[in-house]
Amino acid sequence: MAELKCGAGGCAYNRDTYCCKGDIMVGSNCACDSSGTCCESFRERKEGSYTSSLDHPSFHISIDCEAVRCMYNSDYKCVADHVDIRGCNAKDAKATECHTFKEK
Ligand code: SF4
Repeated sequence: MAELKCGAGGCAYNRDTYCCKGDIMVGSNCACDSSGTCCESFRERKEGSYTSSLDHPSFHISIDCEAVRCMYNSDYKCVADHVDIRGCNAKDAKATECHTFKEK
């Protein structure tokens, strides 16, 4: 499981750069650089937004990933030790990206 740091402060699951969702999905299968990826688990934080019943940030998280051209992608699972998700002004998933992506 990767240590995940997330810069998408506008996400309902984000707590101080850590994710409360428990696991995430990174898209997309045609990405050839980090700008072609996104965190599909992103949910815009809104007043009274639902957050994970766990509601506590996870330092290590399971990542399913569709970005098959990434060197850390092993059978649609991320095997990187550390993953950075970016998107400080994101209001939707498309405005986020996996900054750890590295093409094979
Ligand atoms: S580092 Fe690569 S395999 Fe891991 S989540 Fe990012 S794009 Fe997917």
